Amino acid sequence: MEKETSIMELKGVGDKTRQLFAKLDIHTVGDLLCAYPRDYEVYGKPVEISRLVPGEVCAVHAAISGIPNEKRAGKLHILNMKAADSTGSLQLTFYNMPFLKKTLKRGGFYLFRGMVQTRGREKAMEQPKIFSLEEYGRLTDRLVPRYSLTKGLTNSMVQKCVKQVLSLYEFEPEYCTERMLGQNCLIPLRQAVETIHFPSDYDSLLAARKRLVFDEFFQFLFLMRRNREFSEQLPNHYRILETAHTIRFLEQLPFPLTEAQKRVWAEIREDLGGACCMNRLIQGDVGSGKTIVAVLALLMTAANGYQGALMAPTEVLAMQHFETIQEYTSKYGLVFRPVLLVGSMNAREKKEARAMISSGEANLVIGTHALIQEKVEYRRLALAVTDEQHRFGVRQRECLAGKGEAPHILVMSATPIPRTLAIILYGDLHLSVIDELPANRLPVKNCVVNTSYRPSAYRFIAGEVKKGRQAYVICPQVEGEGDGEGGVSLENVVDYAEKLRNALPREIQVACLHGKMRPADKKRIMEEFAARSIDVLVSTTVIEVGINVPNATVMMVENAERFGLAQLHQLRGRVGRGGDQSYCIFISGSEKQETMDRLKILNRSNDGFHIASEDLKLRGPGELFGIRQSGEFSFRMGDIYSDAPVLKQASEAVDLLLREDPDLQEADHQPLRRHLLEASANSVDFRSI
Ligand code: ADP
Ligand code: MG
Repeated sequence: MEKETSIMELKGVGDKTRQLFAKLDIHTVGDLLCAYPRDYEVYGKPVEISRLVPGEVCAVHAAISGIPNEKRAGKLHILNMKAADSTGSLQLTFYNMPFLKKTLKRGGFYLFRGMVQTRGREKAMEQPKIFSLEEYGRLTDRLVPRYSLTKGLTNSMVQKCVKQVLSLYEFEPEYCTERMLGQNCLIPLRQAVETIHFPSDYDSLLAARKRLVFDEFFQFLFLMRRNREFSEQLPNHYRILETAHTIRFLEQLPFPLTEAQKRVWAEIREDLGGACCMNRLIQGDVGSGKTIVAVLALLMTAANGYQGALMAPTEVLAMQHFETIQEYTSKYGLVFRPVLLVGSMNAREKKEARAMISSGEANLVIGTHALIQEKVEYRRLALAVTDEQHRFGVRQRECLAGKGEAPHILVMSATPIPRTLAIILYGDLHLSVIDELPANRLPVKNCVVNTSYRPSAYRFIAGEVKKGRQAYVICPQVEGEGDGEGGVSLENVVDYAEKLRNALPREIQVACLHGKMRPADKKRIMEEFAARSIDVLVSTTVIEVGINVPNATVMMVENAERFGLAQLHQLRGRVGRGGDQSYCIFISGSEKQETMDRLKILNRSNDGFHIASEDLKLRGPGELFGIRQSGEFSFRMGDIYSDAPVLKQASEAVDLLLREDPDLQEADHQPLRRHLLEASANSVDFRSI
């Protein structure tokens, strides 16, 4: 069995299962092996009722006491029961399981496992799983992998398939040398892949994870640094010099640039007119005003007779940039002729846009990934700007760059990365930092609370809407994904919006927005929100990047414990963008002390860089599973914050290799060379290895 073998070859996988796997983008056995578990379920030893910790998933061995109580709410059947041991009692609630009234016998002992909640002064579990003592004994202390699923595909089906692959698949040979493994304390590849799926204990899981994360970082850094050598030598094909246009534009702007914006703008002007091609990253906290600096650079490019492109990670953001730029164009009579190109435009619109781009009629092109598709031909592309670049990854950046004859590259990121890490991760770019917010901002007021605060939060939102403001509510999931095991259920956009419609006064308009919607619908909803015909937007983190609706003053985040602090800070950046006082409400579904402490860091600071470094200090690899920052750099598993030590190690290993054998000529390095070549096969500039 090869990596490319279709999963149809596996026993028990027919066409129906194949289609389900395809939804998760799993087609081959290789894909399946790389679909690492999302997290692991640990079946801890049962504890006494008095030791149950609210907010945690626990198991308890207790006897049914008292008389069951049945209720109906619409279609829902609710069964309340009580269980007790010598240390206390516990309320149990089951939904749509009326038969349990008979199965669970009064006085009988059972093992219940679920999320512990508090209900008044009592502890409670909703929909706990029920086991016999023997059954549970077999599971105790094992780490059971939990995979990302889709409706119809169960966790045990995925487990079975992975097991089959592990027993049949001929693993690729180890590509790290003995020395690399030794120096970096890494376990062999095969062992790592087997262990990540079926760990025998926690320590070996961490070792497996470390190996896989190391590989990801190593590969990324090696290719990036090879590329740096390549791009540093590029001469400036387009000398772009200051014209009266930018100066006039700055005079007409309703606000002066901050000192930090001025400094960065000066650095860019110097690059554009200098001897070498620009390769620059602008880092600046959310709301620090990066867009205007990019607009200046694009304007200057157009004024010099060239084309500039601005690529955003989402259509919503691309359209917002397009509108901003159009507004500037008409207001200040600029040399811009902007054109928009996004995937959801129809064939005719796209064709027109492409024609304007290739004829040079449009000198400013704004869009999404659509900008780097092959069909687009540029006329004189001299500047390629990517916004929120971490969403793209090096390869896509390179692709846009490959469109012109080595255009200048400017990337903008709001991901607050501590400087030591930025130097490693952005080693191929010069760094400009906007470390100052415009003066007119009122700091956002924050609160971190548990779910019992919800009614007050809704009243507060209703009050703000009455004043003419708008609000966002963020949920971690799109629709009920039946997390099931352990009873940990997360809030989802679709059900939540319904709940909110019932909880808020009828005249308040509530709408949802999430990544599974059609682009045209997303666009419509965002437009309606910007036009204020929607008051409250319930959304997943699709709104996290870049959206600018200054009239929104409340950001409420459900299951805030599921997000990294840096990501929560990004979400917070969606409010506080206008002159009005803004508020952030972080609702934690877990009452664990560490979780609350971690979230409270957000209360104390509004500075993204400070938050990121605090997050870094607090989180060890132990807390990794489940929380992830927003997928920066599209690493599959590695997290630049909590895996920072591994990132540094990989960086040193790359340096060593580049010093000793940069072209990977030594016999020992041949497997590594083949592996890296394969990894870079789709990218433009790395072929020279
Ligand atoms: P980000 O850095 O997060 O991309 P934006 O560029 O979207 O931030 O800017 C946020 C808001 O701040 C915009 O409405 C923009 O017009 C405004 N802004 C930018 N620079 C200044 C400034 N120097 N003074 C006042 N407002 C500014
Ligand atoms: Mg932005």
